[in-house]
Amino acid sequence: MKNKALFHIAIGVLISFGIAILRPQAVDSLLQSRWLGETMLSRYTDGSERENRIPEPIDLASLFPDIVIRRWNPETRKIALTFDDGPDDIYTPKILDILAEYNVRATFFLIGNSAEKYQNVVKRIWEEGHEIGNHTYHHSNLSKMMPWQILLDLKKARQVFADITGEDVLVVRPPYGALNPPAVEAIGNEGYNVFLWTVDSLDWWGLSKEEVIENVIPRVERGVIILHHSSGGPGEDLTGTINALPEIIETLQSQGYSFNTASEILEEIRMENEAKKLVYEGTLTTMKN
Ligand SMILES: [Zn+2]
Repeated sequence: MKNKALFHIAIGVLISFGIAILRPQAVDSLLQSRWLGETMLSRYTDGSERENRIPEPIDLASLFPDIVIRRWNPETRKIALTFDDGPDDIYTPKILDILAEYNVRATFFLIGNSAEKYQNVVKRIWEEGHEIGNHTYHHSNLSKMMPWQILLDLKKARQVFADITGEDVLVVRPPYGALNPPAVEAIGNEGYNVFLWTVDSLDWWGLSKEEVIENVIPRVERGVIILHHSSGGPGEDLTGTINALPEIIETLQSQGYSFNTASEILEEIRMENEAKKLVYEGTLTTMKN
């Protein structure tokens, strides 16, 4: 009797292995299913930016130039303002007020489960012409996750944004800037772009207005992407950002800078690559002739 049970278990294990080898996508869908996959996601939720930020060991933007963007190369004085970790009902609305006052559009990389909590703030971001980016559902450290877990997390957040705004969000900013090459490949294959930053205001350290300004203004040049936060982790204070923002925008506007959102930048990069390709093909044709 006991042997028979063991025999059945062994057959079961063999069949499972067989499926895993012959049809790996079946295992993937099982892992991504609601009842199994999602129970395994939340434990990857990490703490604050301050506790987790790690310097990027490899330059992913040069390894994956078609997927990862850290800056771009516009012909005129263009830059981008980005805000991570929102939405909340404390700082995000104040930032929206300032952006509206100066008629500036920005990109907000939102956390899916915060977006579910503050749906009106998400709607406001969207209605006021800003762009929404995916900052994962759980503010997860993607470099510690398997590709299927990453895709599941991103998909969950993407669905939240789509439900609130009707828009399919395809730009991703990894929390803590943490990513590794297999993760980038998985994200890229799914049609997402990874949007990093060039200038970090370091406002997540709870800096003063003056310190935030000092971290941004001297580093601005054509094509930089500036990182701020529109919501803090527990105990994080972003008053410095709120107070610095009007002066940062005024200074940059007076220097002739205009502000672009993530998908506008992607579109410019796409057109630039297209133009380069045409020039290249033109050169080839001339050489043939
Ligand atoms: Zn973050």
